[in-house]
Amino acid sequence: MLELVNINKQYKNGSEVTVALKDINLTIRKNELTVILGPSGSGKSTTLNILGGMDNPSSGEVIYEGERIETSSLKALTSYRKNIVGFVFQFYNLISNLTVEENVAISARLRGKQFEKEVPNYMKQVDVYKRRNNFPDQLSGGEMQRVSIARALAKKPKLLLCDEPTGALDTQTSQRVFGILKKSVDAETAVVIVTHNPLVAGIANQVIKIKDGRIEETVENSNPLEVE
Ligand code: ADP
Ligand code: ADP
Repeated sequence: MLELVNINKQYKNGSEVTVALKDINLTIRKNELTVILGPSGSGKSTTLNILGGMDNPSSGEVIYEGERIETSSLKALTSYRKNIVGFVFQFYNLISNLTVEENVAISARLRGKQFEKEVPNYMKQVDVYKRRNNFPDQLSGGEMQRVSIARALAKKPKLLLCDEPTGALDTQTSQRVFGILKKSVDAETAVVIVTHNPLVAGIANQVIKIKDGRIEETVENSNPLEVE
């Protein structure tokens, strides 16, 4: 579905150059949970931003369904981000003056007004339905992250990209969030999680270990643990 081929990324600040990624090759497949695992500063966010069309590589190819996206027009790239990709962030990025239901509805409405009727289903899927009339600051961290997953899913993305989604959560809550993300995988959808939390490795179909901007190891797991 999505491929990175010989990706390199350098950041230049004046005369200072930081090498963030070196020769990254990976494949993201539908119907799979891919985990990109590595310590802080190893290049995880940079990789995710390139996968999501939010950042361009210095060299290499980003190929989605046979089309190179890193060389496509601004219009095509915007459409890719808007229609193909959903994002989940460490700090949720919910809109604080909207309720849970409204946060999810905004996202459904982007696809068309008729999809608003699906909003209760998305809230039930992540178990925040009883919280629908609350505002984000009335929720626990785990609940906020579940709402942000519901919001991302309401866009019906083909690719759900999650940047350190449990970075602010305790172990038990993290496990629950990872489980919900795993269940969001289906025949049409790939889920990618970047994290330093090895807790998630057991349920992944593919674990890509990254260190100092390089892939250390790619582990395919033909028999990942099931959730519940
Ligand atoms: P991770 O997500 O694994 O913590 P990042 O992808 O954020 O790693 O960063 C990889 C490397 O690139 C780090 O050395 C980081 O300091 C550097 N980096 C990230 N973003 C920028 C930027 N905008 N400008 C300069 N250096 C950056
Ligand atoms: P979690 O295990 O998800 O982090 P918490 O222990 O933080 O949950 O919260 C337990 C319960 O208390 C949750 O249902 C949460 O919604 C509720 N809660 C936490 N903070 C607030 C708040 N400021 N206002 C209302 N309810 C809250």
